[in-house]
Amino acid sequence: MIEYRNLRIALLGAGSVGAQVADQILNHGDELAARIGAGIELIGVAVRDPKSKRAADIPAHLITTDAATLVRQADIVIELMGGVEPARTLILDAINAGADIVTANKALLAHHSTEIFEAAAQVGAQVYYEAAVAGAIPIIRPLRDSLAGDRVTRILGIVNGTTNFILDRIDTLGESMEDSLAMAKKLGYAEEDSSADVEGFDAAQKASILASLAFHTHVPIDLVYREGITQITLDQVRAARQAGYVVKLLAICERVVSADGTEGVSARVYPAMVPDTHPLAAVHGANNAVFVEAELAGPLMFYGAGAGGVQTSSAVLGDLVSAARRHVIGGPGVAESTHATFPILPISDIRTRYHISLEITDAPGVLADIASLFATHGVSVESVEQKVTSVDGHEATATLVIGTHEAIEADLAATVDALEASAVVERVVGVIRMEGL
Ligand code: NAP
Repeated sequence: MIEYRNLRIALLGAGSVGAQVADQILNHGDELAARIGAGIELIGVAVRDPKSKRAADIPAHLITTDAATLVRQADIVIELMGGVEPARTLILDAINAGADIVTANKALLAHHSTEIFEAAAQVGAQVYYEAAVAGAIPIIRPLRDSLAGDRVTRILGIVNGTTNFILDRIDTLGESMEDSLAMAKKLGYAEEDSSADVEGFDAAQKASILASLAFHTHVPIDLVYREGITQITLDQVRAARQAGYVVKLLAICERVVSADGTEGVSARVYPAMVPDTHPLAAVHGANNAVFVEAELAGPLMFYGAGAGGVQTSSAVLGDLVSAARRHVIGGPGVAESTHATFPILPISDIRTRYHISLEITDAPGVLADIASLFATHGVSVESVEQKVTSVDGHEATATLVIGTHEAIEADLAATVDALEASAVVERVVGVIRMEGL
């Protein structure tokens, strides 16, 4: 048997994930080599500040600030610096210099995947990105390989650990949004500027990646509809629980047919009520889970740690072994699949269900007025619950909680607008979609 030369590995970044990857390559390189069928050699680790203390004992001669030179000398470049630049330029340079890429960079892929995959296809390079969605959880490979012969119809993902941690505390401990966000920051689950998480930007990037892969269609990040969790209140979470639901921030990727018969795909992120019997309802703390529905396989659930340097390094190292094996065996490997080119449908075209809480004037005929507003917009009501009645002088106010049947989002949104404008509605207290039914 021919002995293959050692494969040269360049690592960009030695932070939370990068330090763990360096540690595994340096201390368990033999085991990785046995699985690959060739030796591997870490030829350099690019960082910003060479003097920073690292979580791994990386020999000083491997540390460099010259990432541009490093990537041109490698067979495989593992990019774990994050952000768009200089990661994008370094990856493109590495591809053009003949390297395969392993990256965990969802922000880069969500914004520049076309450019990167095209550059890779031109030279027959591979881009592996298992760690870019849901940390340690294998979801990219199952979608790309295991389900390649099936048709995925829907993905419901809890893909942001920070927001799941916050919503879970509100639900299980009865904390306010402010208190649970403060706790998330204190425990290191949320950054000081938490907007990427709580406003849903991070989940939207992952939705773009998952939808593109699942539906063989490029789904640009700007076509992913996004709402964060900042409007969610303790009262809403409590009311959901009482009604048999749990509030989760979901990344939803779906094959849909619009009212005019157009077949397309939808990618969207918003907080939604999930039945408390749904497997996603049992995802607690900062964990992630991706619930996939496929025509032949039926429902599948992928669950585990969505972040953490050690955990995420597992996904990165799996990609390293795949990339290295391909280097040894050769061949083109798996290219990005975008043959389906479905149109991306706007949120207004999708079908969902609303759960609406209203404060209304408690007087004869009011319920009939409200029912007619729903009927006018073609939205059918599934449940109505009158909750509290307070009497202030002669004015009586009631709280009404209405669950709708499935309807087109545009009609549901128009119904809420009409409710807000109605004389018998004092206030629309909250609107939240229902998913996973
Ligand atoms: P991190 O802790 O912030 O580490 C980033 C590393 O990259 C640091 O070592 C930093 O160097 C280096 N770096 C940054 N900019 C650089 C530049 N311009 N030139 C050279 N080196 C540079 O990040 P991380 O948490 O490990 O995340 C890395 C990637 O993994 C990101 O794409 C992230 O989205 C993804 N990811 C992370 C997790 C997680 O749990 N952390 C989970 C899934 C995916 P210095 O140390 O010198 O500053």
